[in-house]
Amino acid sequence: MQNPRDMLITLPNPHLRQRSKRVGVITKDIHKIVTDMEVTVIDWENSRDHEVGVALASVQIDQLFKIVIVRNDYDNKEDRTFKVFINPSITKYEGELVEDFEGCLSIQDIYGKVPRYPKIHLKAMDIEGKPFKLIAEGFLARVLQHEIDHTKGIIFIDHIRDLKDAFFKLNSEGNLEQLDDKTVQNNHILW
Ligand SMILES: [Zn+2]
Repeated sequence: MQNPRDMLITLPNPHLRQRSKRVGVITKDIHKIVTDMEVTVIDWENSRDHEVGVALASVQIDQLFKIVIVRNDYDNKEDRTFKVFINPSITKYEGELVEDFEGCLSIQDIYGKVPRYPKIHLKAMDIEGKPFKLIAEGFLARVLQHEIDHTKGIIFIDHIRDLKDAFFKLNSEGNLEQLDDKTVQNNHILW
């Protein structure tokens, strides 16, 4: 089996800014991609001291399909099961934009304060191909907006590129330190 650390792609890989394709039939290959995604999140989490792996989009393992996985219980590191969203799309946004911190497995150590809607309505298929709808609020709504952006080639930093004081770096003690705007803007790994 491939080393999971080799599957994860990070910036500046240009595939992260490409749109993913819809999944048609859920084949064995799609099941394999989902398994590889789960392995990748857990392996990444095991390699990090201060972070939890919450979710992933398949583009992040260089499979450009509209597939997203989200941890069933991200408050409990022992629970390593995931909910699968095939062809997810947001059908309605509710409330006023709220800013909060986000990070991404594809951007090492950089965090940002990103505005997101506090409540979304979403439709998707499960891994058996059965359609479902979901209303998500708070942190889950944020995570799903972040991941669905990945399926469109959008990364969280793209929303805040021109904002002042929006970027942070995780230091070795696990605390966030604000990054200088100029340093961020001139970082050619990010843009
Ligand atoms: Zn991400």
